[in-house]
Amino acid sequence: MTIRTRFAPSPTGYLHVGGARTALFSWLYARKHGGKFILRIEDTDLERSSQESVNAILEGMTWLGLEYDEGPFYQTHRFDRYKEVIQQLLDQGDAYYCYCSREELDALREQQMANKEKPRYNGKCRTAEAADGERVVRFKNPDHGDVVIDDLVKGRIVVANKELDDLIIARSDGTPTYNLTVVVDDMDMGVTHVIRGDDHVNNTPRQINILKALGASLPVYAHVPMILGADGARLSKRHGAVSVMQYRMDGYMPEALLNYLVRLGWSHGDQELFSVDEMIQLFDLEKVNVSASTFNTEKLLWLNHQYLMNSDPARVAHHLSWHFGELGIDPATGPALTDVVLAQRERCKTLVEMAEQSVYFYRDFDSYEEKAVKKNFKAGVEDVLQHLWSRFDSLSGWQPEALHQVVIDSAAALELNLGKVAQPLRIAVCGCGVSPAIDQTLYLLGKEKTLDRIARAIEYIKQHC
Ligand code: GLU
Repeated sequence: MTIRTRFAPSPTGYLHVGGARTALFSWLYARKHGGKFILRIEDTDLERSSQESVNAILEGMTWLGLEYDEGPFYQTHRFDRYKEVIQQLLDQGDAYYCYCSREELDALREQQMANKEKPRYNGKCRTAEAADGERVVRFKNPDHGDVVIDDLVKGRIVVANKELDDLIIARSDGTPTYNLTVVVDDMDMGVTHVIRGDDHVNNTPRQINILKALGASLPVYAHVPMILGADGARLSKRHGAVSVMQYRMDGYMPEALLNYLVRLGWSHGDQELFSVDEMIQLFDLEKVNVSASTFNTEKLLWLNHQYLMNSDPARVAHHLSWHFGELGIDPATGPALTDVVLAQRERCKTLVEMAEQSVYFYRDFDSYEEKAVKKNFKAGVEDVLQHLWSRFDSLSGWQPEALHQVVIDSAAALELNLGKVAQPLRIAVCGCGVSPAIDQTLYLLGKEKTLDRIARAIEYIKQHC
């Protein structure tokens, strides 16, 4: 049997981390078993769905590298099919028209609540004569027996049919409801494993009953627990970034976010770092935690730093170039990005930090960092810089070793300690007091920028200090 999983987001907002984790688990399960991963856009709620959200979801999936084998399928393109199935259920006596008015249903509900009963439809129209006018279609839920779900995450769940009422599968305007569309799609798309958030667990017995009525084979279900914020409430906007693309904006590597998400509710011994290949190999739904997991931004940041330090520099450079683009910098105007990655990756935990702290390699700065200037640019320092300028100017090559030697020799010649030479030099060329090792910094800047900027600093000190 070919495993077929799906991710079925409703396009009512961006792709959030909870959805991304569900997508990841479904994707991993399909990849692990050589199966297919389907993307289905559940856009039947016309008021809340938007093309913008669809785009945001597709963008998020692409950035994460969760490529789908089939789809995206749009439910709004499948209304004819849903109508056909609703008619089939009516024809075979598994569904019926319900003519109950809103007032009648409200009264029923109130009465049930007053009797301390669970509010549920009483099946009154099961025997109603066919008539015109306002009507919905209800599924005729079995009256007896139990629905048994052997959930791969939650274990066995048993629900008595008498707990379930006859749910509406078509509204009065004829449009199908969520439980009907999901069932038809899972059936038509041959989904073998439904992996989704456990907020859907209550729908599952109803969906199983409809599938059974349609003679479809039942998928295996795996309901994944929620993600919580640090305060124990369900993760939401007020906990900070929840949109996948916000993590891109904030300087995370997609593989770091994937690694974080896979570990959120799943573990393999005490291993923390998983390449995507390892995830595919080791991931198992049966090892997913039953209880909800708490989102921990510090841990995600730690992971991101691990990925910046240990990934192929070319891969990090690829993502870094996007951030330079955001800053309006053309990477062709400075050193090779892979060299910048190698110089900065120990000190930077995000790509945003890395880009922002590397701007001076590509673009002249307008002003010097005030604190650094106060401490290091003093009258007389222009002579130190002048000395360095001449030495750098006469260098024939521009390699870190030689640059390092110039700084050391200059300190010795001027009888200054190294810091008194290197720090003014750093501020002169970077505009700030923090950069990679000075020889690396100068090497990456290149001779021309280095000499120009030292000359500019000399003028500045002459005028201001
Ligand atoms: N469209 C549903 C949602 O976004 C998911 C339905 C499902 O996975 O069965 O929550």
